[in-house]
Amino acid sequence: MAEEIHVPAFREYPIIPAIVEGSMAHSKPYVAKPDHQQSVGYPGQLVDDWQNAAVKKLGELVSQSRALQVFLDSCVKCGACTDKCHYYLGTQDPLNMPVARQDLLRAVYRRYYTFAGKYFPKLVGAKDFTEEVRDQWYSYFHQCSQCRRCSVFCPYGIDTAEISMAGRDVLDAIGVGQKYSNEIIGKVHKVGNNLGLPEPALADTLEGLEEDIEDDTGVPVKVPLDVEGAEILLITPSADFFAEPHIDGLIGYAKVFHQAGISWTLSSFASEAANFSMFIGSHDNLKKVAMRIRQAALDLGVKRIVVGECGHAWRVAYSFWNTLIGPFDFLDPKYPAPQHICEVTYDLIQRGALKLDKEANDHRRITFHDSCNVARASRMGNIPGGQFIIPREIIKACANHFFDMAPETIHQNTFCCGGGGGLLTDDLMELRVKGALPRMEALAKVVNEYDVNTLVAICAICKTQFAKVLPYYKFQMDMITSLHQVVGDAIQLGTSH
Ligand code: SF4
Ligand code: SF4
Repeated sequence: MAEEIHVPAFREYPIIPAIVEGSMAHSKPYVAKPDHQQSVGYPGQLVDDWQNAAVKKLGELVSQSRALQVFLDSCVKCGACTDKCHYYLGTQDPLNMPVARQDLLRAVYRRYYTFAGKYFPKLVGAKDFTEEVRDQWYSYFHQCSQCRRCSVFCPYGIDTAEISMAGRDVLDAIGVGQKYSNEIIGKVHKVGNNLGLPEPALADTLEGLEEDIEDDTGVPVKVPLDVEGAEILLITPSADFFAEPHIDGLIGYAKVFHQAGISWTLSSFASEAANFSMFIGSHDNLKKVAMRIRQAALDLGVKRIVVGECGHAWRVAYSFWNTLIGPFDFLDPKYPAPQHICEVTYDLIQRGALKLDKEANDHRRITFHDSCNVARASRMGNIPGGQFIIPREIIKACANHFFDMAPETIHQNTFCCGGGGGLLTDDLMELRVKGALPRMEALAKVVNEYDVNTLVAICAICKTQFAKVLPYYKFQMDMITSLHQVVGDAIQLGTSH
């Protein structure tokens, strides 16, 4: 695979690359099969009157979302967003400029829902929703990871992610959904997690993990499942149950809870933090997936809900849970609902409840990747910018060597890993490799200047994406590390808390 994809060269200076028309027109994820579509409530295949159905759906979305209408009406073509998308920088395809991506949908909206577009379409760039346009939508709305970087630089705050979500929602409504996201959402509805891992398999996995931790440390650290009356319900991405480097993060959470003496549990009914429904812009699926978590919290009688390391899951939890599945009046009001695992760990560190040996991480020279949905769509703690400060403070409390990447590539300016927004699928590998370019360039600088050998992240998608693309850029795959692995390695188990 590595030989087949042309990996873009690092740019010496951050120049805007020349455009290459149509260079990614061929990039399309697999289309969902009828059962994938139907399991998430959409038509199984392209409906007969797809053109009318698409226009009708678009009208509904615009009338339901004032924000979407404003985004579609207010672009002045200033160009400030054109060089801000990692997919444009990595692929040079002009339709990956955020404004051009928006215009794919804006042209159709204008044609059917504005006076000028109805009567003078050519004057205002309005277009019929033809088969060719439908094809472009499918291609380029699946080349947006909904990272929202462009919106930071837009003087009007136009959020291309919302437009991509709307585009995908329209495509789903006419029966042309994306296999990867829809199949996964269907599995969560059926089994409770993205992997389709049933309760007995999950229980076995966690038991094996407990044995591994005890073999490794000599301490019987528990990874509990379905424990009624536990204080905390941990909702974490299912990748944490089996994949590297995710599972080392789960071990880290378990060590934190163990040393702090906090009772906690996972749930086999709600064994997934991820909610891919956001990627396809489906409110109904978003709510249905999230509702399992409320149900699990009530059934187990927990006092707090804590979310593990997952970027978009934290956005859904932090920004949407209260309206989707609240109120959380059955939880302990002393704690935020929901709470991020980093907030829990940071609080315990500040209160001296964790005994940490920084030297245990002396072999690591660490940098931190801000995940888009945490950086630009949520917060942490009760301090402005807490989502940037808290993970870094945790790392610095657990390790001696930390080096940030360049300021224009971190915090709210962070570059996407290249695999977010429902694009973390092998059928989009070329896009993922090319879209990782700006992050890899920033990483290369700290590797060269400070001998950085560890890239820490707090998002399951970022971790999987980096594990795959780092070798394309000649970095070691195992550079990518869970933040709670760094924590877990520093914790001195067996000492009093
Ligand atoms: S949201 Fe991110 S991926 Fe989408 S157009 Fe904007 S910068 Fe590109
Ligand atoms: S920065 Fe905003 S207003 Fe300017 S071209 Fe981009 S989307 Fe339009």
